[in-house]
Amino acid sequence: MILFKKAEDLYNYIADQQKKGKKAGFVPTMGALHEGHLSLIRQAGLENDLTVCSIFVNPTQFNDPADFDKYPITLEKDIAMLTGAGCHLLFLPSVAEMYPDGIKARMHYDLGFLETRLEGPFRPGHFQGVCMVVHRLLEIVHPDNLYLGQKDFQQCMVITRLTEIMGINDKTTIRICPTLRESDGLAMSSRNMRLSEQERQTAPVIYRTLLYIKNNIQPGDITCLQQKAVADLELSGFRVDYADIADANTLAPVTNWDGRQPLVALVAAFLNEVRLIDNLLLS
Ligand code: AMP
Repeated sequence: MILFKKAEDLYNYIADQQKKGKKAGFVPTMGALHEGHLSLIRQAGLENDLTVCSIFVNPTQFNDPADFDKYPITLEKDIAMLTGAGCHLLFLPSVAEMYPDGIKARMHYDLGFLETRLEGPFRPGHFQGVCMVVHRLLEIVHPDNLYLGQKDFQQCMVITRLTEIMGINDKTTIRICPTLRESDGLAMSSRNMRLSEQERQTAPVIYRTLLYIKNNIQPGDITCLQQKAVADLELSGFRVDYADIADANTLAPVTNWDGRQPLVALVAAFLNEVRLIDNLLLS
């Protein structure tokens, strides 16, 4: 695996390979890697000649500074895992390399309705920060395929919109990969390592709540199911930001289901200081 710290070097290396007809698949991450990340790397390996990963804990997407300060960093382990998974290129930029004009120099991305839903109001500025970093990364890596995890369902929609705003949606194909879970159903996440033993025992309740919705949803009024999800999570000790059932294509809230509309259930909830998110397609 070749390690790059300079954007220009990585840009030129990939451009050179693409001129020779090679396809590049890109997996952006914030490090503290787990099997979920590696599943994206392996998928990129199957579909491209060159697998590119970036590790950058992006300060502009943390609305809570404490969350940024506590974000786990396990770089040596990450490098070993990426090498084992067959990653070819790793981009490890500094903040100055990513944001030569500083982190305050922001453009506004028009995400429309998407930004008004779910993570949007609970994490003000978060998706603008995500767009800022992914915009820069996509300019540097200019991949043929971009690999994202369904775990961050709304983020997948935001980044799809970003590629349209950037006008690269015909050049870079977005590949959304399934959520990898622990054996008890908890979605793998870098934040899981911040859970205490007791919190770790409670955390799979999120997945069980999502499964309950999936197994019990019926056409008609579905608000009771959504209210029960919130109540069950609170009873287990979660502080719930949202437990929502939405249209899987638009994220518009759905209260009355016709039995055909594609749905997704999404949860964001805290166990003490640690905020966990998860989702499940219902149909
Ligand atoms: P992060 O490092 O959390 O920014 O995640 C980097 C990429 O890995 C994103 O596209 C995530 O959606 C994806 N990812 C995170 N957790 C999982 C998981 N459990 N299964 C599959 N993909 C994941």
